[in-house]
This record gives sequence, C-alpha cells and structure tokens, in this order.
Amino acid sequence: MRVVGTFAEVRHNGRGPVGLVPTMGYLHEGHLSHVHAARQAGDGTVVMSLFVNPLQFGPDEDLARYPRDLDRDRTLAEDAGVDVLFAPELEEMYPTRPNTRVEVGGPATALEARSRPGHFAGMATVVTKLFAGIRPDRAYFGRKDAQQLAVIRRLTADLSFPVEIVGGPIIRHADGLALSSRNVCLSAGDRIAAAGLCRGLMAAADAAEAGERHGPALEALVRAALMAKPGVHVDYVELASADRVERLVELDRPAFLAVAARVGAVRLIDNIHLDPVGNTADGKFVADRGVRLDRASVMDAGGR
Ligand code: AMP
Repeated sequence: MRVVGTFAEVRHNGRGPVGLVPTMGYLHEGHLSHVHAARQAGDGTVVMSLFVNPLQFGPDEDLARYPRDLDRDRTLAEDAGVDVLFAPELEEMYPTRPNTRVEVGGPATALEARSRPGHFAGMATVVTKLFAGIRPDRAYFGRKDAQQLAVIRRLTADLSFPVEIVGGPIIRHADGLALSSRNVCLSAGDRIAAAGLCRGLMAAADAAEAGERHGPALEALVRAALMAKPGVHVDYVELASADRVERLVELDRPAFLAVAARVGAVRLIDNIHLDPVGNTADGKFVADRGVRLDRASVMDAGGR
C-alpha cells in the first residue's frame, strides 16, 4: 500500500478501474466493508481517502475533538486491501479558502440540514474535489449516512460525474449500535444508552415488515425506545423517501427511517432502509437492518 498526500500521486498510482472509499479516518469495520466491496467488484486500484474536512463542520461542532490516528488507520487500511491511502494535508485539499461551494438542493435540505446548516455544502464540495482530482470509476458510501448517500447520488447525476455510486449496508456492533468513529467519545454509560437507537429502529423494522405503513406510528416506536433514557436527547426521528429525502406520512415507496440524537457529548445518527418487496401495491416491505459483527470490533481494541 502506498500512502500519498497529493491528487497527482493518487492518479499516478491508479491502475485499471479505480474504486474510491472516502472517509474521515479513525477507521472501523464500516469503512473497511467498503474496501471489501471494492475488492469484490474487481476494482484494479482501491483508493481510500482520509481527510477530516473542516468545511462540513459547524462552528459549534466537534472538529477539534474528532478522533485522528494515522498510524492506526494505515495498518487497518493496508490489512483490508487498500492500494493507495490518500491522506492529504489541509493545504493540498484547500490551497486557499475556496470561493466555490457545491450547494445541492432537494435531498440536502431536510433532516440533517436543519440541525447542521452548511454541512451538506461542505461535504458535497469535498466529494466533488475527490471526484475531480481522483477521477474514480466507482465510489463507495455507507447507508449509515442515508441522506448523504442520496445527496451524493443527486450531485453525481446533476454534475455528470462518470462515477458509479455504490451504497453498502450499515455495519453494527453485536448489540446493534452502528459503528462510528465518534463512538470512542462515548462514556461507558452513554455507550449502553446509545444502543437504544438501534433497538428503536429494529422495533420499527418489525412493525413495518408486519404491515405498519403509517410514518408517525413507525417514528413513535423509535421515540419510545429512547424515552426516559438519561443523557439521550432526540434531535429528530423521521420517515423519509430514499431518493428525494421527503417526509412520508405513508410508507409507500423505498424509504428510510432516520434518527439523530445527542448521547452525552456525542451526536449520533442511524437509520433503517425499508424497501418494497415485489409489487408495491401489495404493501409488503422488507427492512435492511444492516450487518452485525459477531466479534469485537477494532473500535473495542482500547479506544484512543
Ligand atoms: P466517515 O468517516 O464517518 O465520514 O464515513 C466514511 C464513509 O463510511 C461514509 O460513506 C459512511 O457512510 C461510511 N460509514 C460510516 N459508518 C459506517 C457503518 N457503520 N457502516 C457502513 N458504512 C459506514
């Protein structure tokens, strides 16, 4: 594996179809699952980018606290089969403070956008730079960030990037908590409370698969699992369409049920996708509950 710091070096080291896995580092099995997907898809060169993008953090957010450990990430990336690890300095990514922002409308205006103004413009700008600077054939993103995935699909179509966007399932700890770099900032007590997000989503998944189609009823199941949990403050629970990210009162198309909550000092997001089975008219939906690890995560190996 080569560790490089410039776009030119990434392009120079690319052979065959290039698969790109963008990350902010502090790697876990969620990130690594996308590397495995790229290897399986037969990408000739698997590039992982590792950059904590200041543009997508608000002034009161956790940019300074965001976990970083390049040595740890280098080992994990190499073991997973990354060919090129692109870890640029701020100066490579933003030689000057950019005057350009990529503002996506539609799916970038709901849910997270209400709580994190400017987040999606920052994210879309850096993803655009990665696509322009690396020119990947495929790019891999997690369903963990369901709205982000919808925004990236829209951005890719709107700007005609010749890249195939591949969405991968949510990787979860054995108790259901979705893996996130931010989990290392949870206290032991908050870590237990955080599993409530997944529990609520799974209850809603059961209900949806049993025929519940009413959005507010599904949302209430998630809220109920988080109610009276000390240290948990729900930001939103919402059923939204998968592509346009519009609120759904009735589950009648591909959708995701999303939750955002502050647990202790950490803001967490999670979701389940709900997809129609066969003919939508017969009203059956199946939930994508993600993949649970059957062993300890690399995140459990001593934290920071
Ligand atoms: P991040 O480093 O948090 O910006 O995430 C980088 C990529 O990994 C994004 O496409 C995320 O959606 C994806 N990702 C993060 N956590 C998970 C997870 N638990 N399962 C699957 N993908 C994930």
